[in-house]
This record gives sequence, structure tokens and C-alpha cells, in this order.
Amino acid sequence: MTPTTPFPRRTARTVDVGGVPVGGGHPVSLQSMTTTHTRDVAATLAQIRRLADAGCRIVRVAVPAPPDAAVLAEVVAGSPLPVVADIHFSSGLAVKALEAGVAKVRLNPGNMDDPDGLRRVLALAAERGVPIRFGVNSGSVRTVHGERAGHDLANLMVDVLLEWVAMARKEGFQDLVLSAKASDAPTTIFAYRRLAEATDLPLHLGITAAGPMDEARTRSGIVLGTLLAEGIGDTIRVSLTGDPVQEVLIGHEILAELGLVPRRGVRILSCPTCGRCQVDLVGLAAEVKRRTADILAPLTVAVMGCIVNGPGEAREADVGIAAAKGRGVLFRHGRPLCELAEEDLVDALVDEVRSLAEEAGG
Ligand code: SF4
Repeated sequence: MTPTTPFPRRTARTVDVGGVPVGGGHPVSLQSMTTTHTRDVAATLAQIRRLADAGCRIVRVAVPAPPDAAVLAEVVAGSPLPVVADIHFSSGLAVKALEAGVAKVRLNPGNMDDPDGLRRVLALAAERGVPIRFGVNSGSVRTVHGERAGHDLANLMVDVLLEWVAMARKEGFQDLVLSAKASDAPTTIFAYRRLAEATDLPLHLGITAAGPMDEARTRSGIVLGTLLAEGIGDTIRVSLTGDPVQEVLIGHEILAELGLVPRRGVRILSCPTCGRCQVDLVGLAAEVKRRTADILAPLTVAVMGCIVNGPGEAREADVGIAAAKGRGVLFRHGRPLCELAEEDLVDALVDEVRSLAEEAGG
């Protein structure tokens, strides 16, 4: 019983990132970035495989120096995902990345000021049919253009991007993706709304310096959720200080919650509890989450603390329990199955979830 909310999407041009279409109404793709030193090919490929297993569609790797560019061909050959080279400062490294066969190059207009080098990059990318993302972030544009904040900062990021787009189009290059990431929600949302109006190019959504897990989840949920619900965004990256696999899992949660991709795994609806609750609902919900974490079938499971809202919510789920004092009712597809003692509730619920998952083939 997964809700679907097909928000009308902004129509953008399509670019092909190594076989993953971005824009043009194609499904919003999840991407992430490795945290390894790219020159450590074994570690980089191992992390890329973990990202792919988690549902990542496109992976970006940092290319800060020639030794990283030198191994890109090997990374590209061993990667199950299209590889994007992340380039700052040096058009020479971008040329090397293109020669190595990457599927996309990210350039930062905030820290590159070599027009001839950029023209060489665009010409080679056009020859190879490789798209380029112009990605600004608030830190780098501030370094070059001076301190700005709020709408001024958002406008500066957008103006810099549009200047680069005009320059690329003058060279006949169209295969562009844009991103404008600030570290706060209002600035980032304002910048993307303006970009969405000003261009027909696909947009890569994200927020920069999003913080550790809890902060990143909140900031990304607000920024990406707001924009995606407005139909803005063709590919997303949640960034956080931690394991990038978590970026992919959170990104998937955001997309699935909006109904933009099919859900993978169990979605738990549990009440916040209140003075009416007479069971250890926090413990029950945590145990249900832990014991259903390996299930891939897209099932909704309710864990409700009392009979006020409990039965209603439990009925909306595929499987659910509504607890009462020392007891609870088990529901499946809206039908009460049986009443159980509190200590038997989780076992019975998890059995029902597994049985439904088997029927669903997951
Ligand atoms: S379901 Fe019951 S216990 Fe849970 S928050 Fe609502 S009223 Fe409180």
C-alpha cells in the first residue's frame, strides 16, 4: 500500500550520463560521490560497488591531481556505474578525464577562470558526446565575488551559471546539467527555482556542507523535498559527513516518500506516543524496524500505541498492530486478524510482514 504522488515535473532537456538519462521526464536518478582517494583504485571500486548495491545510479569521483586522473580509465572500466569526474581549478585535468572515458565531467565555475582551457574541454566533450555539469556552490562563488548572503548569494550563483551556459552555447555545446548548492535551505531553494525558470537544462539538486547524518537528513529532506514536490530536479545527491551509502539510502527515502521511485523495503508508520499509550511503543517500533530491515518488498507497517488512532492507521498499512494495555490487535490489509499479549506482538507482526514479503517475492 505505497502512496503515489506523481508531481508534475518541469520539462528539461535530456542528457545521457553513460546510459542513465537525466532530464526529459526520466525518473529522478540518485547519485553519490566516493570518499576514497581516487588513485586508490581498489578502495574506490569497492566503495562504488557498495553504492551500486544501495541503489546509486551515477557516481562521482574527485580528481584533484594528475595521479587521480591517471587511474580514471581503470576506475571507469571496473565501475558498475557511470563515473563522473569532479574537477576544480584545472581544465587540463578535465581533458585527461574525458580522454579516460568518464561519463560526465563536473566543473566549478566558481573556481575556474581559463576560457581557452574551458573551450578545449567543451570541444572534447562534444566530440565524445559527454555531458558536463556546471556546478557552483556558495563557498567558491563567495571566495571569488566577495561576501554575499540570502537572495544576493542565490542570484550570484545563478548569474555565474547562466553566464557559463551562454558561453558554452556560444561554442555550440548543449549537453549541460546545472547545480547551485548553498549550505542553507532558503538560499538553495531560491537559486534552484530561479534556475528552473531561466533554463531548460536538467538540474542536479543538492545542498553543500550539509553536515553529519541528522543535520544532512533534515536539510536534504527540506531542500530536495520542496523542490521535487514543485517538479524541479532531475538527479539528486544527498551529501553528508559519513558513509556515502547513507546518502543513497536517504536519497531513496526522499524519492520514494514523494512517490517518484518505487519504494524498496519496509516503511514504518508509528505514532509518537502520548499519555494514552500503555505499552513500550518506542521499544516495539525499534524492534520492528531492526527485524524487518533486511526485507526488500515495498510494504507499509504500522505500529500504533493505542486504540484512538491506532486501528485506523494500522488498517491503512499492509500489516499493523494497535496496542492497548498489555495487549494489541494485529491487522493485515485492514482486517483484524487476532488479539495478542504485548510480548507476542512483535513476533506476530514480523511473521506477517515476512509472509507478505514472500508473497510479493521480496
Ligand atoms: S495512537 Fe494513541 S498513543 Fe499513539 S499518539 Fe495517537 S493517541 Fe497517542
